[in-house]
Amino acid sequence: MNVVLLGPPGAGKGTQATRLAGRRGWAHLASGDILRAEVKAGSELGRKAQGFMNAGALVPDDLILSMMAEHVSRPAAANGFVLDGFPRTPAQAHGLDARLTAVNKRIDCVVHMVVPEASLVRRLSGRWYCPRDNRVYHETSSPPTRAGVCDACGGPLAQRPDDRPEVITQRLKTYQELTTPLIGYYRDRNLLREVNGDAAQDAVTAAIESACGTGA
Ligand code: AMP
Repeated sequence: MNVVLLGPPGAGKGTQATRLAGRRGWAHLASGDILRAEVKAGSELGRKAQGFMNAGALVPDDLILSMMAEHVSRPAAANGFVLDGFPRTPAQAHGLDARLTAVNKRIDCVVHMVVPEASLVRRLSGRWYCPRDNRVYHETSSPPTRAGVCDACGGPLAQRPDDRPEVITQRLKTYQELTTPLIGYYRDRNLLREVNGDAAQDAVTAAIESACGTGA
């Protein structure tokens, strides 16, 4: 099954996509993580993307589309995939549909994760992550055992440059303006399911699995 998690920054897409992919043996394709890896590697794509990312703006559609089209075609995604952070504009959704149709695949379920803005700001501003293995922590709701240190690899945690308060505001604005039209796009195609993302992690996972008909 191929699933899209749709929702504002801080909705918990990354956490839930990791869980779903792990439980089902699907690939977790997070456009933001892929871009951050490109930035870290100093690739041409990373250099082009970095300025947009640090400003809370979207990276141009053509760059994202070719990057993600390549990832959905990889053997690791043959069993199914969860898209997290992509598509983010109607042009990206059209482009994705065209690419998938060409290889006889399609999106089966789109989950819109609904979370109030106050919770989003609280989640993003307290978020820490491990640059080595991408594990995500929160200073109050899911802190690491030792402050500032990744539980899994012992490496130092970092705050994303775009989790600064002024960039958070811009990212939420970008989401409202450019990404919310996708809700109608997928509703028109009868793929959209709405889930309350402002609940305990287990409850959200169960709601997503039930919405997509993948529950146990
Ligand atoms: P995220 O980790 O999903 O919050 O993404 C971090 C940043 O990467 C975003 O603020 C954008 O600058 C960029 N980005 C991630 N996914 C996309 C996308 N689908 N389209 C355009 N830009 C993206």
